[in-house]
Amino acid sequence: MIRVVKMKAVILAGGKGTRLASLTKEIPKPMINVGDKPILEHQIELLKEFGITDITIITHYLSEVIENYFGNGGKFGVDISYFREEEPLGTCGGIKEIEDNLTEDFLIFYGDVMLNMDLDRLISFHYAKKSACTLVLHPNDHPYDSDLVEVNSENRITAFHSKPHEKGKYFRNLANAAIYIMSPKILRYIGKGKKADLAKDLFPSLLDKEMFYGYITAEYQKDVGTPKRLEEVNKDYKSGKIARLNMKNKRQAIFMDRDGVINREVNHLHKIEQLEILPDAIRAVKNINRSEFLAIVITNQPVIARNMCSVAELDEIHRKLETLLGEDKAKLDAIYYCPHHPDKGYPEERVEYKIDCECRKPKTGLLKKAEEEFNIDLKNSFFVGDADRDILCGKNAGMKTIAIGGFRGKEKPDRLFSNLEEAVDFILESSH
Ligand SMILES: [Zn+2]
Repeated sequence: MIRVVKMKAVILAGGKGTRLASLTKEIPKPMINVGDKPILEHQIELLKEFGITDITIITHYLSEVIENYFGNGGKFGVDISYFREEEPLGTCGGIKEIEDNLTEDFLIFYGDVMLNMDLDRLISFHYAKKSACTLVLHPNDHPYDSDLVEVNSENRITAFHSKPHEKGKYFRNLANAAIYIMSPKILRYIGKGKKADLAKDLFPSLLDKEMFYGYITAEYQKDVGTPKRLEEVNKDYKSGKIARLNMKNKRQAIFMDRDGVINREVNHLHKIEQLEILPDAIRAVKNINRSEFLAIVITNQPVIARNMCSVAELDEIHRKLETLLGEDKAKLDAIYYCPHHPDKGYPEERVEYKIDCECRKPKTGLLKKAEEEFNIDLKNSFFVGDADRDILCGKNAGMKTIAIGGFRGKEKPDRLFSNLEEAVDFILESSH
């Protein structure tokens, strides 16, 4: 992929790292080692790999440690300039100060986030959407105390939900990973010399003025803000997981049916109060999350075609599903559903959804979509379901299939278990 525009990068590296006090007395947080080198060096290597060599580092706390280590960047094959903030001005202030250098769209990293991702794919998304500002988003295992973002079906950002979240409200598990591509036109909304935070103050105030998009990815991004998180990041680095999750590499997935697999079976579930998650499913999803498999739901929801509920109501049901899983630190990488049904001729139906589509299981349209969006190795992935259409769908895509929940279909799955947890345990054990 050849990019015409040469993109610059800004790294916000002024943070002190108060929760890592013992490590950050003599070095600023971005200089903490992951493996054998500072997080900041990992970031610079990643930028360089994608041809991004014009880098500005905004510093404040112990600036000289960073400047002495990286110098002008020559040793690292990049050009680095610095801006020292005398007084910390949130995340907006420093960027505003260097706006004369930012005449084209530019990348922003936070210096305390360990990440590895296919930046070409992110940049292509940003330009394809003609986005004024693109935020990298991901489901995480603590959405209840994360700043969350809402997107529409085109991935345009429609709302920011800052923590703390209102009790009893349901949110999609989409957290801000603090990696952005920003057009310079956003800079004119920042007041010079005023303390402000990009995600908390600036972005929400611009939603009705500029097009913000969310780039959703399952690649690795994690801040090292606490000793526990730093330990996890080091473990993931040493095992090679951080590099393996880059979108350039194919991933395996565990695809799951929804009703009767994740939540208790209800005939035509269409009201939010009918949704009840099965306890074993929460444990199962957590186990998937601990592995390197993606956790993806593939479900037929003809309740839309039958006009038993609207798309908005179904989305709210899925927000409840993600919120309840999130309360137990479990996350789904994606939910794909087919709203269609082929049988026409009922008075209450919604005609536009009464079609013979390509996405209704046992057809593989939704699997193909997931394959494309997550770069999935379908042949080495699994489908877990409780009905013939699930088993057939998995087989149609060349996957291994597991039936659960007193399966009484005609198809022959590769394996049979009583619930999702047992199925997932089997998959994870046999893939070791
Ligand atoms: Zn469909």
